[in-house]
Parts: sequence; structure tokens; C-alpha cells
Amino acid sequence: MQRRDFIKQIGMIGAATAGTSLAAPSVASRKTRWKMVTAWPKNFPGLGTGAEFLASLIGDMSDGELTLKVYGANELVPPFEAFDAVSRGTAQMGHASAYYWKGKQPAAQFFSAMPFGLTAQEMNAWLYHGGGMTLWREIYEPFGLIPAAAGNTGVQMAGWFNKEVNSVRDLEGLKMRIPGLGGEVLRRAGGVPVSLPGGEIFTALQSGAIDATEWVGPYNDLAFGLHKAAKYYYYPGWHEPGAVLETFINRDAFAALPGRLQAVVMNACRVANQDVLSDLTAKNNDALQTLVTQHKVSLRKLPDEVLIQLRELTRQAVEEIATSSEASRKVHHALTVFRDKVTKWHDISERAYLNARAL
Ligand code: CA
Repeated sequence: MQRRDFIKQIGMIGAATAGTSLAAPSVASRKTRWKMVTAWPKNFPGLGTGAEFLASLIGDMSDGELTLKVYGANELVPPFEAFDAVSRGTAQMGHASAYYWKGKQPAAQFFSAMPFGLTAQEMNAWLYHGGGMTLWREIYEPFGLIPAAAGNTGVQMAGWFNKEVNSVRDLEGLKMRIPGLGGEVLRRAGGVPVSLPGGEIFTALQSGAIDATEWVGPYNDLAFGLHKAAKYYYYPGWHEPGAVLETFINRDAFAALPGRLQAVVMNACRVANQDVLSDLTAKNNDALQTLVTQHKVSLRKLPDEVLIQLRELTRQAVEEIATSSEASRKVHHALTVFRDKVTKWHDISERAYLNARAL
């Protein structure tokens, strides 16, 4: 298949610059090499491999004109410095999740996941066709970065605990690794949220430095061996119902690319966004069975009463963050309006269907 047709077929999205032309004569033999820094351990299932997939896709789709070398966490910069590294041009692309940057701009958190917010399908609808992407670009603009969605985890697990969670009181004093808005909700429940990069979670949990942790879902959690350090595995992931993996691109590096390669980069992100979700969805169930049958993990549902209280605490936490900056207010408002609208549709489509299938 001609590359041009392929790009058309997967849904050409507008590159940032006007005048992008797929028919432009090729800029012969100009090879560009980029660095991609990530917040994940090198080749970590689903996340690290998602970054590798995106990089190889860009290489393939550009016929090798633009190639990326992927760096795992700490290979070039520490995981939580990826944003700054791309902002200042040490690397041209980064792969992480937006809530890691809440210290720079609180509104960034909304582009990872909002507790009790959008599912993967809804988030993609908001980003691509509901105005979300425009807002995301606006808040990364002062950092000289262009964001793109590059993967979604789907609904996560609530996490790993060494004691039962029967009421919100059981969260009091609990030191738990839980980033972003979910962490703010835990704080309101009397817990102590801790932000740790993925590669440090197992050791922290095993040594007792933290009491509990969330990570992603069965596939990723099994890979980290979290079942060896905690007994109870709770669901559902109220705090991250469809967490977005992001990529961010140095604006000057992007602007220096011919329009054809800009389109390759943005469309490759779109392919990767879908691929990570498909990958994790396909593998989570098998991993869950392994955890339950082979490793005798105790699978528990958070009691409805706990979820209802967490939802109320979420409302308070999110509204407070929404007042912390004009960008947060804008993003929170747009997201909430979209959620309320899409809920009406999904109540009679997704939810009604899943209920029907379970009758
Ligand atoms: Ca998570």
C-alpha cells in the first residue's frame, strides 16, 4: 500500500501547520533522528512497549526518514524529568502520562484521567471530536510542547492492599502510591498519597515504605510482581477509568519537519493510542486468571458505600482543583459538560448492552 493511501486510510488528521501537503515532492535523503524519553522502565509491558511501538511506527510510516531512539526511565533522564527534557530540547519526544506534570500545571491531570470521569472510548471521543485536544494543546503551549494521546489503559484496577477495605475509614492513614486526582481524593479520605514512578513501586510496597498501591491492571501489575507484596486486589479503578498515555513533542523540532512527516507523527500517535488499549484489553483477562488461580490473589470489589463516598470526595477535590487556575477551570468545565452528555448516550448503549449481555 502506498504510504500516502495508508495515511489517508487511517484518517488523516490535520498537522499543526497550515499548508501540509502529502503531494509535496519528497525532501530527498534527509534523515532525521529523534530521541524519545519515557517515564517507563525500558520495554515494560504495555507502556514501555507502547512507546517502542510508536517509535517503530513512525520509522516505518516515514520510510526511515524519521527515526526515534527510545530511552527507558533513567537512561537519559529520570522518569519525572521527561517533560522538562523535551521542553528544553534534550529529547524531541516524551512518553508518559499527563498527571505527572500537575506541579507545572494542575490542569494537566485532567488529561490523564478524572476519577469517576471518562472511559477510554469517551476520552477519545472528547479529545478527537469533543474539543478536548484543543484545550490540551493550549495548556502545553507555554512549555513549547505539543501533546498527543498515545495509548489508553482502559478501566484500571483500584489497587493492591494488605488489609481489607470495608469502609472509607479503612483508608485513614493509609500510605498509598496513587498519582494525580485520585491521590487528592485519597488525601480527603484521610490517606497519604505518594507519587512514585512505576519502577519503584514493588520495592516500596514490599519494604513497607507504602501500605498500598495502584498501578494499572492485571497485565501490568503481574509483570511488576505486585501480588508478591500485597494480598488483596481491589476493583474497579474508580480513580482511572480510562487513563491516557501521552506523548509530547518539542514544538520547534516538530515545526522543523516537513508537513508530510508531521502528519506521520500525529497519525502514528493515533494508531498507538488505539493499539495500547487493544493490547491491554486482550491481555488483562488472562493475567487476571493467572493472578487468581496460580498466585491465589484475593480479588475484591470495593463496597458500593466506599465508592459512593469516594465519588463525593472526588467532586470536592476536583472542584477545588478547578479553581486553582484558569486553565483548570476551563478544562474541568469542558470535561464535565462532555461527561454529562456522553453519560446519557452510554446509559442506553454501552451500559444497557453490558447489562443485557449479563442477563
Ligand atoms: Ca494507575
